[in-house]
Amino acid sequence: MKIAIVGAAGRMGRMLIAAVQAAKDAELAGGTEAAGHPGIGRDLGELIGGESAGVALSSDPRALFEVADVVIDFTVPTATAVHAGLAAEHGTALIIGTTGLDAAQQGAVNGAAEKTVIVQAANYSVGVNVLLGLVEKAAQILPDIYDIEVLEMHHHHKVDAPSGTALSLGLAAAAGRDVQLDDVACKARDGIVGARPRGEIGFATLRGGDVVGDHTVMFAGPGERVEITHKASSREVFAGGAVRAALWAGTGKPGLYSMKDVLGF
Ligand code: NAD
Repeated sequence: MKIAIVGAAGRMGRMLIAAVQAAKDAELAGGTEAAGHPGIGRDLGELIGGESAGVALSSDPRALFEVADVVIDFTVPTATAVHAGLAAEHGTALIIGTTGLDAAQQGAVNGAAEKTVIVQAANYSVGVNVLLGLVEKAAQILPDIYDIEVLEMHHHHKVDAPSGTALSLGLAAAAGRDVQLDDVACKARDGIVGARPRGEIGFATLRGGDVVGDHTVMFAGPGERVEITHKASSREVFAGGAVRAALWAGTGKPGLYSMKDVLGF
């Protein structure tokens, strides 16, 4: 499977180069960065301090989508929308890890999924996907007197909030309660906001240091509190999951898939 990486010099991109190189059945087909990036022209293996990979970092995504079977995208929302269009045009499978897409950018992804295989997940770790299942189940069992709060902490470089994973956890809790997240979500509180409405799903965002990604979903009820937590200590878990998704997607039928589909639950 020929796998290419857009945003290859980013924090996740570098992890992905190593993960593709380590995967059997995968061949590193290339990588791109934004035009003007200082790493353009450098060998991808050498870029991450390893041995030569025989392919250089470029700024031409079109050429990448032509040669690759699957492209992995952990970049920025504007770039991801463009990459979705190229994936549809070339019939290349696309694995999207980028978070914070607006409605128009998500529309571009949904449209592309009519033409090619797209896997999109706010979190590619297997552990978080187990957490999503547990949260949906807990929200189904516990009545709405149990207040649901989603807490997350990430490193100080992160630009979107709440994290894509926190929003996915909110969606899982809402699905368990059979409500729409948009109708019950409270994404920030400041000042005299009044008592907490019953059934609200609240979010709290912390930013600092080099935290890779901590998420807790709290069910605070009368006389007890259930807390389910996941802590990522290395980006390797996301890169490994994304490469697993790439190997799965390379042979599939067009459509928009999640990590649940990849993992088979
Ligand atoms: P980063 O800023 O380190 O990397 C992003 C890279 O994309 C940068 O190197 C940037 O130059 C590059 N880029 C920007 N525009 C580009 C373009 N047009 N073409 C090619 N490259 C371009 O950020 P990061 O920490 O690696 O995170 C990237 C994204 O992935 C974020 O949205 C983050 O929230 C998300 N993320 C998702 C998961 C997951 O499991 N789904 C895990 C970690 C991070």
